[in-house]
Amino acid sequence: MKIFNTLTRTKEEFVPLEPGKIKMYVCGPTVYNLIHIGNARPMIVFDTFRRYMAHRGYEVDFVSNFTDVDDKIIKKANEEGVDSAEISERYIKECKKDMEGMNVMPATVHPKATEEIDGMVDLIGDLIEKGYAYATEDGTVYFRTRKDQEYGKLSHKNIDDLEAGHGRDLKVKGGEDKEDYLDFVLWKPKKEGEPFWHSPWCDGRPGWHTECCVMAKKYLGATIDIHAGGEDLIFPHHENEIAQSEAANGVPFAHYWMHNGFLNIDNVKMSKSLGNFFTVRDISEKYDLQVLRFFMLTAQYRSPLNFSADLMEAAKTSLERIRTAVSNLDYLRKQTDKDNLTEEEKQLSKEAAGFVTKFDEAMDDDLNTADAISAIFELVKFANTNSNESSSSEFLKELKDEIVMLSDILGLTVKQEEELLDSDIEALIEERQAARKAKNFARADEIRNELAEKGIILEDTRQGVKWKRAD
Ligand code: AMP
Ligand code: ZN
Repeated sequence: MKIFNTLTRTKEEFVPLEPGKIKMYVCGPTVYNLIHIGNARPMIVFDTFRRYMAHRGYEVDFVSNFTDVDDKIIKKANEEGVDSAEISERYIKECKKDMEGMNVMPATVHPKATEEIDGMVDLIGDLIEKGYAYATEDGTVYFRTRKDQEYGKLSHKNIDDLEAGHGRDLKVKGGEDKEDYLDFVLWKPKKEGEPFWHSPWCDGRPGWHTECCVMAKKYLGATIDIHAGGEDLIFPHHENEIAQSEAANGVPFAHYWMHNGFLNIDNVKMSKSLGNFFTVRDISEKYDLQVLRFFMLTAQYRSPLNFSADLMEAAKTSLERIRTAVSNLDYLRKQTDKDNLTEEEKQLSKEAAGFVTKFDEAMDDDLNTADAISAIFELVKFANTNSNESSSSEFLKELKDEIVMLSDILGLTVKQEEELLDSDIEALIEERQAARKAKNFARADEIRNELAEKGIILEDTRQGVKWKRAD
């Protein structure tokens, strides 16, 4: 598997820290509103990455935070006259609903910044002790950026250019007592009406970059395999995460940095501040969110992707085409009376496997979902052309299973909750008998329950097991 690593700006072979395992951290949303479909892009693409790596046999530890302390949350809370915790809790709940709709799996852990403040205070204390940070008179703590010899290595910015060019942008309000204007805030004093926590420097709250360092280390370790997020996070957020983590821990923070490109509208980044956005909820009123997911995956994750009504319609039609192919294969299976593969079908089945290989190759090339989707369509076309009422049940099942498996890896559900075929029921009953003989009663019960859920009732008789469909 090759991954484009922002750190080296090259596609590198992925080698995990520990064989068979992946420790991955993805910066999550700031929860002050419903998420927009730009925020949904990293969720969908990195969930797809996670699913693909799990399919390849990796155990993926996937951590993604909720930023629940932030100026925008406080502003919204003040506007509504409620506590900021009420705002963040509300939008975390809504975000999880959207994630479910888009078939984004819950992370292994979803830490919240407000529940990790102690860890952040410890990290800041450690940085002060090591000479990487300092507190000013009002209790603000800054990171001593220039002390980090490698600062800029992720964003490929030269510290002297920062000083000459963008330096002034980095100057924070009230930061007049900084030693150097490149220094960034780790802890800031409370203001009237804001949530705050105690610290040795003052009552206040942490800066944004510190939270991800603490959560990544706590849940995954000082060095992780992959850190990911949207490309707008490269600078300053991820650069500042690296600076703090590596200064405190003395080891590399993440081996691979993955960044998704922007979701644009009329070729401008979709964002709350520009007001040019659709929320995931808006889209869900018109479309099944699987269509949104499909649309997001039609581009390789690093390419910019332009959102339009036409492209959403095209995504809907395409997804429908896959679903139709799957239900046709099911229909044909019910019609046929042939069980096993013919010689000709054995040949065709090898050809079909070629599309699966093509899919894997595309995914192995830095998660090229655009080409992976093309491979699914080639397989769909192949299935449509080569299947009919006289195909064998085994062949039809093979084709269907392949289409469903590849779609599942992309998190796309293309299978109808279908009725079990008689032959499937009989195979399960046989398996249940064998399990009982082997005294594997757990498996036997599981099969009985599975059949019961599908409305199949079993009856043990003297002539053997009989079954019927519930009315
Ligand atoms: P935020 O809530 O702004 O911190 O963003 C949460 C995640 O969404 C981050 O990884 C951002 O990089 C990403 N993101 C925000 N807007 C877009 C966009 N228009 N296209 C792609 N990713 C975005
Ligand atoms: Zn982060």
